[in-house]
Amino acid sequence: MATVVNPKPLGASSVQEPLDLSLVIPIYNEYESIPRLLKVISEVMEPLDYTYEVICVDDGSTDGSVDVLKQHAEIYPYLSVLLLRRNYGQTAAMAAGFDYARGQVVITLDGDLQNDPADIPMLMDKLNEGYDLVSGWRKRRQDHQLTRLLPSKIANWLIGRVTGVSIHDYGCSLKAYRTELVRDMNLYGELHRFLPALAFIEGARITEVPVNHYARQFGSSKYGLGRTFRVVMDLLTVYFMKRFLTKPMYVFGLMGLLSMLAGTLLGGYLTFLKVGLGQSIGDRPLLILAIVLLLGGIQLFCFGLLAELLMRTYHESQGRPIYRVREVLRR
Ligand code: UDP
Ligand code: MG
Repeated sequence: MATVVNPKPLGASSVQEPLDLSLVIPIYNEYESIPRLLKVISEVMEPLDYTYEVICVDDGSTDGSVDVLKQHAEIYPYLSVLLLRRNYGQTAAMAAGFDYARGQVVITLDGDLQNDPADIPMLMDKLNEGYDLVSGWRKRRQDHQLTRLLPSKIANWLIGRVTGVSIHDYGCSLKAYRTELVRDMNLYGELHRFLPALAFIEGARITEVPVNHYARQFGSSKYGLGRTFRVVMDLLTVYFMKRFLTKPMYVFGLMGLLSMLAGTLLGGYLTFLKVGLGQSIGDRPLLILAIVLLLGGIQLFCFGLLAELLMRTYHESQGRPIYRVREVLRR
């Protein structure tokens, strides 16, 4: 067992043999689930013909997950463990896994036993039909109806409309990707869930298959309502990224023109009242307020968008990873 401190990603430049498959599992305080998960993965993977590795990315756990992972790395030869320096979030943990993956295909799944490793062969079969990305669809999702299922139904519909990639379940972590697809993605925020959309922009062939889903048995979900907000904001960014790839002026130009048109019409109306009918227009503060709010709103919106895109450019130009690795355990 080799322990490397402050290591560089091996990734494609690895001198080691490439593998068929890398399973990437983000772990944040899941110590109770890890033993079962790894056992089930073994049972599923051993009979298959694929060469594979399992990369557990510990995202700054504080509950003993690290010790459990280290113990299991001694038992399972195919298990690599990446320890991030702190909690960076699921997207960053997954990105770390992508960077270190040696497989030609990466399969992501959650560390809390909600996904079923038994679905992996099916994902692979589908991928081998000629797809670049196969997304799991939790047809019978075992999460709370009102707080989870409803927001995600709306989110999936919205994402489908906005990105043009209509799959039922963006939020399902169980997905299979051709590695070259995800390796150069600059992910941050909550963007991991938009991978099908981002990949589609890059011309990837995408499909989905129904997969199993189980209720969480141990620990608790790491997310609350705040995620819905973050997902919506990221969705806006993805949408405008797609547009920006063609021509930003189409977006801002149209909004600007529309607002100018509205302003001109309102101004014309007021001028008509003043000049044509001789009315005083000084006592119409509501109209003025409406204009100010409208213009101010548009400006704020554009400003936020520009800032978001600048942030993206910043992240990408820095070439700086969105995570830092403390330690790598791999054979
Ligand atoms: N996770 C992570 N970092 C975080 C939050 C979550 O690595 O900051 C992992 C978590 O351990 C799990 C997966 O991401 O393996 C999905 O998280 P969770 O099960 O809490 O999400 P849910 O299933 O409730 O949507
Ligand atoms: Mg979960």
